[in-house]
Amino acid sequence: MTLPNELKAATLAAQAGGVIDLPSGGVTPPIQPSTTFVRDEDYALVNPDNIYSRDNSDIVRITENVLARLEGAEEALLFPSGMAAIAALFRTLPNGASIVVQSGIYWGTTKWLRDFSARRNMTLHEVEASDPAALAKACSDHTPGIVFIETPSNPWLKTVDIAHAARCAHDAGALLAVDSTAATPVLQKPLELGADIVMHSATKGINGHSDVLAGVLATSAPAAQAWIDIKADRHDAGAVLGPFEAWLLLRGMRTLPLRVERMSANALKIATWLKAHPKVADVYYPGLESHPGHEVATAQMQGGFGCLLSFLVEGGAPEALTVVGKLKLFHRATSLGSVESLVEHRHTIEPHTGIPESLIRVSVGIEDADDLIADLAQALD
Ligand code: PLP
Repeated sequence: MTLPNELKAATLAAQAGGVIDLPSGGVTPPIQPSTTFVRDEDYALVNPDNIYSRDNSDIVRITENVLARLEGAEEALLFPSGMAAIAALFRTLPNGASIVVQSGIYWGTTKWLRDFSARRNMTLHEVEASDPAALAKACSDHTPGIVFIETPSNPWLKTVDIAHAARCAHDAGALLAVDSTAATPVLQKPLELGADIVMHSATKGINGHSDVLAGVLATSAPAAQAWIDIKADRHDAGAVLGPFEAWLLLRGMRTLPLRVERMSANALKIATWLKAHPKVADVYYPGLESHPGHEVATAQMQGGFGCLLSFLVEGGAPEALTVVGKLKLFHRATSLGSVESLVEHRHTIEPHTGIPESLIRVSVGIEDADDLIADLAQALD
């Protein structure tokens, strides 16, 4: 079934892009696990779209199509993790290239980029990209091949003006890639703001149930050389998502707009409550008017500010770990964007990157906000 183009995200997601399994009449698509696909007596493919499952999978294509439409993209490509998507992007750069990357983003990205650029003789420039002047200077000083930002960032919740970043990157002849994981395609559309490529860890809000590892890249310029190279790299190097994961991802995505709406409302309520708590020294959430990135976030995010927030407790690591240890509803686990709320003491995970010892990162789920606040209240008191 072909759905009209102008549908809102909730309709598109709930109907999985209009997919119907015609042979069975099913309103959900089937999982086709075959790795190889037959040819007829004349050696013509029975289905010309499918030769071999390293890049030919109906359910992967269906899921990519829904993701592209949610993102306002021409094309989306799925990868077996967010990091695999990031690696595919940077592998398009030649040895010796220069990269400008936002500082203080998801540590896994920074670590991989540092190792990768050292191996490939590339120069990596880490810049405070939420400072527009610093980003502009880094782009003009270093003529990068790719400018990579993450907004809102994890775990600092810094916001970067995407349209400004796109201008800086393009003036320097670079591509702008945006990790929009914390916003999901529901709240933020970097391609409409001038980004060339948007990336998500689909493991997070897009899947939303802590049971699929996946990544996505999407573009509105599928004819660009970088995108052609990314597609070739995925096909040839084989960083593909399996059909079971793609099916689960699509199932999770049916409720994506609903989940994001609830999580964002819960997160704003919790952030506002935390801000007024005497044992909380600071709260980082772009939805708060006091947040330095609130104006930028309000301009470039629609419908909420996402599930991720961080706060500082009065004291240091012992006080933060005591609060984390007393929580009963929040699971003490890494990751974000799922239906259940998670809490993390990031300093324990990355003690060397400048994360304050008193920082507690929270991924707010879809539970009742008052239950979550009551849990935080007993843990803080
Ligand atoms: N980008 C962000 C903002 C993340 O938080 C993460 C993982 O936590 C990643 C990328 C990496 O994604 P994955 O774990 O799916 O490889």
